[in-house]
Amino acid sequence: MEIDEERFQVYLECLPDDLPDHLKDLEIKAKKNRIPIIRKDSQKLIKFMLRLKRPAHILEVGTATGFSSLIMAQYSPKKADIFTIEKDHERAEEAQENFNLYDKENKIRLEEGDAAEILERLAADPTKKKYYDFIFMDAAKGQYINFLPYIRVLLRGRGILITDNILQEGSLLDSRYMVPRRDRTIHARMREYVDALMKDKHMDTVLLSAGDGMTLSVRKG
Ligand code: SAM
Repeated sequence: MEIDEERFQVYLECLPDDLPDHLKDLEIKAKKNRIPIIRKDSQKLIKFMLRLKRPAHILEVGTATGFSSLIMAQYSPKKADIFTIEKDHERAEEAQENFNLYDKENKIRLEEGDAAEILERLAADPTKKKYYDFIFMDAAKGQYINFLPYIRVLLRGRGILITDNILQEGSLLDSRYMVPRRDRTIHARMREYVDALMKDKHMDTVLLSAGDGMTLSVRKG
């Protein structure tokens, strides 16, 4: 049986949801302003993984206006900390305002800047004190492959890496020649990223069709 993706999304949207009101409002606002935030099934998957894994140190690449960071703050253990990176100044400012309002337990720290530079700096820390046991990648899709070497250093123990928007509205499944010329670089880079995860000796990865396609990787520890 083939499942109609659109009907599935509509059904998901209608399912009971325990998102607190402030997050529902942020979700509506982001959609109205065309800020690309995580979809319902990705939200549920992240919440589920947080409950299962109970991470202490969370890293997010791609904050936007802070919706997913606040979801992670809501469903992670009381003492968890969340470090999130956003390069767009306006979005970072709005995210910080949202954190000031809604991150009651002060879990979230935002750094504005290019993730490529920030991740490189974190991974180069000679003390090796900083590590993460839960990483959520949700930034510029073409750059994931460049971030991966740093992510490998920063993800420790039996840490979890979740990457969103893998399928790129399904275009990842198309052959290179079916993809418009202007999208071929990002298509090639995303395929390279998925291949690199699948070949990684230190991680087990599954590719799910949740959201716009997500990979879920666990470090073998
Ligand atoms: N995770 C957010 C949520 O669900 O609420 C949505 C993130 S949105 C899909 C991706 C964000 O990544 C954008 O706001 C974009 O500005 C940011 N971004 C893209 N490339 C980046 C980079 N190299 N460094 C930091 N942020 C980046």
